[in-house]
Amino acid sequence: MTLLVATRWVYDFTEGSREMRELLGGKGANVAEMTRILGAERVPAGFTITTEACVEYLRRERTPPGDLAPQVDEALAHLEERAGKRLGDPDDPLLVSVRSGARESMPGMLDTVLNLGLNDSSVDGLAGATGNERFAWDCYRRFVQMFGNVVHGVPGERFEQAIKLAKRERGVEDDTELDAAALRALAQTFRSFYDFPGDPREQLDQAIRAVFDSWTGERAVCYRRINRIPDDWGTAVNVQQMVFGNKGDTSGSGVAFSRDEVTGAPEPSGDFLLNAQGEDVVGGARTPRDIAELRDWLPDVHAQLMELLGALERHYRDMQDTEFTVEEGRLYLLQTRSAQRPAQAAVRFAVDAVNEGLLTKAEALATIDAEALDALLHPTFDPRAEFAVLSTGVAASPGAAKGAIVFFAGDAVAAAAAGRDVVLVRPSTEADDVAGFHAAKGVLTSEGGKASHAALVARGMGVPAVTGAAELEIDVSAREVRLDGRTVLREGDVVTIDGTTGRITTDDVPLVDAQMGENFRTVLAWADELRRLDVRANADTPEDARRARELGAQGIGLCRTEHMFFGADRRAKMVRAILATDGDRRAALDELLPLQQRDFEGIFEAMDGLPVTIRLLDPPLHEFLPRLKDIEHRLERARIERSDDLDDLERAHDRIRALQEVNPMLGTRGVRLGVLHPEIYEMQLRAIFRAALAARERGVEVHPEIMVPLVGYRRELALLRGLIRSTADEHGCRRGTDYAVGTMIELPRACVRADEIAHEADFFSFGTNDLTQTALGFSRDDIEGRILGRYIEGKVFDRSPFETLDTPGVGRLVRMGAWLGRKTRHDLELGVCGEHGGDPDSIDFFHHSGIDYVSCSPFRVPVARVAAAQAAMRST
Ligand code: PEP
Ligand code: MG
Repeated sequence: MTLLVATRWVYDFTEGSREMRELLGGKGANVAEMTRILGAERVPAGFTITTEACVEYLRRERTPPGDLAPQVDEALAHLEERAGKRLGDPDDPLLVSVRSGARESMPGMLDTVLNLGLNDSSVDGLAGATGNERFAWDCYRRFVQMFGNVVHGVPGERFEQAIKLAKRERGVEDDTELDAAALRALAQTFRSFYDFPGDPREQLDQAIRAVFDSWTGERAVCYRRINRIPDDWGTAVNVQQMVFGNKGDTSGSGVAFSRDEVTGAPEPSGDFLLNAQGEDVVGGARTPRDIAELRDWLPDVHAQLMELLGALERHYRDMQDTEFTVEEGRLYLLQTRSAQRPAQAAVRFAVDAVNEGLLTKAEALATIDAEALDALLHPTFDPRAEFAVLSTGVAASPGAAKGAIVFFAGDAVAAAAAGRDVVLVRPSTEADDVAGFHAAKGVLTSEGGKASHAALVARGMGVPAVTGAAELEIDVSAREVRLDGRTVLREGDVVTIDGTTGRITTDDVPLVDAQMGENFRTVLAWADELRRLDVRANADTPEDARRARELGAQGIGLCRTEHMFFGADRRAKMVRAILATDGDRRAALDELLPLQQRDFEGIFEAMDGLPVTIRLLDPPLHEFLPRLKDIEHRLERARIERSDDLDDLERAHDRIRALQEVNPMLGTRGVRLGVLHPEIYEMQLRAIFRAALAARERGVEVHPEIMVPLVGYRRELALLRGLIRSTADEHGCRRGTDYAVGTMIELPRACVRADEIAHEADFFSFGTNDLTQTALGFSRDDIEGRILGRYIEGKVFDRSPFETLDTPGVGRLVRMGAWLGRKTRHDLELGVCGEHGGDPDSIDFFHHSGIDYVSCSPFRVPVARVAAAQAAMRST
């Protein structure tokens, strides 16, 4: 015998609870919970059709499961019984709202229908039962309008035009001045716009289907993509008895927060409107009043509301955002949810909640969105500002910046010297442009993503940057920026960029300064108490190192020494060293040695007592040289003019040509440079050991860790270890006590042969930029501008694999490498370098992979600390 168990598609509000969020959606679960704790008299009755019903409806090509209708009938009968009214009753009809409600809030993205149940006869019943004819016709006109727009797709403007015309004909300005006759006429006009179903049960079916359909609407799909909400969740549908805020001056609707929604201060905030339905409060046609004024109008209701907000907050143990309606002096709560809040309100709430005994420290930390904390560390767009977005690029380095456009680093330097604020705008940047980064308020590029040169340098320096704004055509020779072939910006025009979101605007948006206050520090201190993962900074200069330490870094996980050659004089010396013949090179390198040494001393001093991982030179040599095209151009001119430097130019040209590679990112870089040109690493090693000895002499506790980049073979590291040892011996330094040797694992081979490589290493660090590039075969410099957008649109990725750890791809390799390395060498220290510091999912992964520390840009350290704490909490 086969036993068929019918699927339950419908739940009454009295049957659900907040734990049923997946099935009932956020709104359904919360209304049910509210019904349970506040009682049915405070929460209008109703039922929820599950998210599973929506998924099934979509799976069956937009056909509701056969047993849905009988279940809705049954729930409706129960609702009618409790309300003491029937849907469509010509004497005193029950009206319902039909609202969407996904697992996660998707504000305004899904559909809702209010006042459902009215038709030509029940509207009279409503008028009779309430003794308010105008109210009844107002409800009817609203319903026919909303139903037409949401369910039948009639454009909103058609209704608005008709309302405008009615007002003009009657010589009135406001909707509320239209009398019953005018509203009746309007309702009739609206009905002629589409095939309006008079049967309320048919209205309900159509509304339910429309809400299901809105899950796959353009707005919702786009919102899900941006917020990374899975497409297969579906939305629930909540059918709830209508209560009316538009029944006169003892009625109203509003939204209230249990604490100030902007600052987090412990005073409730919010908006309300008298004689209005909820959509009027959010719709913008009438200006809502501050919730404090409700005390003057309806003091009892105000007092009840305050008490209920407190009760909800204590129950949910989080700040609440609650919708309410007052019907003729009686308060109803329609829904409640955790309040979305800006970062400063989030930290204020967390601190107050612990002080008030509402939450433990660990719980309070978990209420904070770690990524949102970035906003406290940088200037941001004023959250209240309205502005038009010119274009959007990659959010490459957080913070907002405003300034006049310059196209060349030299111009940025000159402008800054003259006290002007500028934004450096270039297709992409290279080492030559770095002086401009110091001088500019922000950097904007049209090419490259989060791992591009512009992004890395800007983050290291704390300069806001938007990269890869591919829609913009940045023409530096014409000194203009074009969009769709049209010139939109010229040199000197003011542009504002938001490196936290990637937005670019020409509007004069006010900026708000960084707001790292006492509450923020308290929250970080708690995160430090709880977390188990160490956090080091990416820092390349003494200044970066000092700032990183101030922000709580526990050492430097990555000092990219190539970034130390950025200054114009150093670069010239480096160019000389590269162009020199093998015999002359050492002399040229010797000039660089004291400069590197000075930097290392500064870094050691800033990190007194903490480990500093210094990575030997990584990029291909030709990255330091002038472009081949430029040198060819100069050579041509020199030949025509027979100038004196012709010989030098020819030599330089030959050398640069010889150094060109077809795939430089897979070419002579990293450890390969060390094998082919040991004299470069030798100079760097001398600078490290001399700096360590000099700093130690001054009483600084120094822990240098020397890192060899891009190792794939054990023998490569063995060769370099030999070089490191002989240079250390020259200075009387010993491995173990005076320094450590390790490698950055950033090639798939290194991950799967980590057990062999571990024999040569004291520590491993996984470089997730190159590892992503080489494991997934996506160029880190090209993906974001060209491929990423299309891939996200086509759902190949949810987000950039360079921004989050691709667990099945790169993640598996990191885990394998860490495990194999540890298996061979129990004392091996493991870290991860890259841009995943603030991503709680990645941090969770690192924990479980036995990683000891994460290393990220200094400006993201506090974020990572909070995230690490959250991860630690989740894993315990
Ligand atoms: C990496 O590859 O992940 C890394 C940290 O090194 P870089 O970004 O300098 O190549
Ligand atoms: Mg790398």
